Amino acid sequence: MGLCWQEMIAELIMVGTELLLGEVVDTNSAYLAQRLAELGVDLYYVNRVGDNRGRIAGLVKQAYQRADLVIISGGLGPTVDDLTKEAVADAFGLDLVLCPKALEEIEEYFRRLNRPMSENNKRQAYLPKGAVALSNPKGTAPGVLLELPDGKAVIMLPGVPVELKAIMEDAVIPYIRRKLGEKNRAVIYSKVLRFHGLGESAIDDIIQDILAAQTNPTIAPYAGGGEVRLRITAKAVDEEEALRLIEPVEKQLLERLGPYFYGYGDEGLETVVARLLLAQKKTVAVAESCTGGLISHKLTNVPGSSGYYMQGAVTYSNAAKTAVLGVDPELLAQFGAVSRQVAKAMAEGVRQWAGTDIGLSVTGIAGPGGGSPAKPVGLVYFGISYPGGTNTFRRQFAGDRLLVKERAALAALDILRRYLLGSLEEELED
Ligand code: ATP
Ligand code: MG
Repeated sequence: MGLCWQEMIAELIMVGTELLLGEVVDTNSAYLAQRLAELGVDLYYVNRVGDNRGRIAGLVKQAYQRADLVIISGGLGPTVDDLTKEAVADAFGLDLVLCPKALEEIEEYFRRLNRPMSENNKRQAYLPKGAVALSNPKGTAPGVLLELPDGKAVIMLPGVPVELKAIMEDAVIPYIRRKLGEKNRAVIYSKVLRFHGLGESAIDDIIQDILAAQTNPTIAPYAGGGEVRLRITAKAVDEEEALRLIEPVEKQLLERLGPYFYGYGDEGLETVVARLLLAQKKTVAVAESCTGGLISHKLTNVPGSSGYYMQGAVTYSNAAKTAVLGVDPELLAQFGAVSRQVAKAMAEGVRQWAGTDIGLSVTGIAGPGGGSPAKPVGLVYFGISYPGGTNTFRRQFAGDRLLVKERAALAALDILRRYLLGSLEEELED
């Protein structure tokens, strides 16, 4: 098929002196770059510039020469150092004019918060002539879309990350999809598969031939947050056709990676686990050592968590493991806190303490100190206790302290998920 997707070139301009001073880390460009990549939009340049009207205008002109779509972040606020709209107006020789719809939305925002609107917020309702406002559900500054006579466009978004993301998702991504669709008379549709327990290179090895043969749909692996995702993207005349193209590829991938697959799209492990617990009407209690409450944190990040999460204990010291969970001091002395035996006793202890269906436990060495040849940094034991018995697992994680904590918490959730699905495999005792 040999698809060529080089149909839209974008360029990013990140505005803000704070970015140049290193006071604020530019996460917006990483987010925007990812979203554009997912859409199949090419990105050749990412620029950063301070709050300077002349320099912003110069960069806008330059970017506009090189790209079909220029996305600007920051400088839409009400203060005098917010100059993005002025600079864009300069770049194209346009006036700033009041947009009544934008003004109404800003007024409505302040009414909702029961706060008086200051005079300078009115400035945010002025847009370069011919531009349209993109509603901002999370703040006052609307985004701005300026379409130019040659079909190119400049989009301005507020610098505050939650606001930028909200407008991007609500308005800009649909706009880009529509533009791409008009060009190809096609839709671009993608589906994300999420995997836990296998690294990116291991997954790459297993599906190498599928990756090598991909045309439409394409498959893009990406790793992050302790897991790997595969995004399957199809281009087709409509969504139905795209789904038809995606289906066999998804099936083929799951045939090989099935045991590691846990969910789709935006749903994290905790959401999948929450759904299973609620559907099975099961309750859980958690005993944590090296994760310091992270598992409980994740489990309670899901709305409705009171339906399955009963209680948790961070039993960091040996004394706490004994006092709260009833772990036998003999076990601690004989095998050490980081051991299969203690993980088992913790899981059983927390289940009994809480009177829940399931007790989940974790004990390990997050590092950087505390490791030994027999028990290196990153070694973590897990226990899961349930009406039929208790299973324990041993994992060795790489990474620094925070990464070990994160990976251990995700692994614990995955053990819980597998138990709920009835696919908890026995592990040989070591
Ligand atoms: P506001 O209405 O809040 O003034 P704005 O559109 O004027 O919004 P800026 O003033 O440029 O945006 O930035 C507001 C805040 O958003 C900054 O102080 C910074 O904390 C954050 N921010 C700005 N740009 C970025 C970026 N590229 N990446 C991450 N955070 C950013
Ligand atoms: Mg500002």
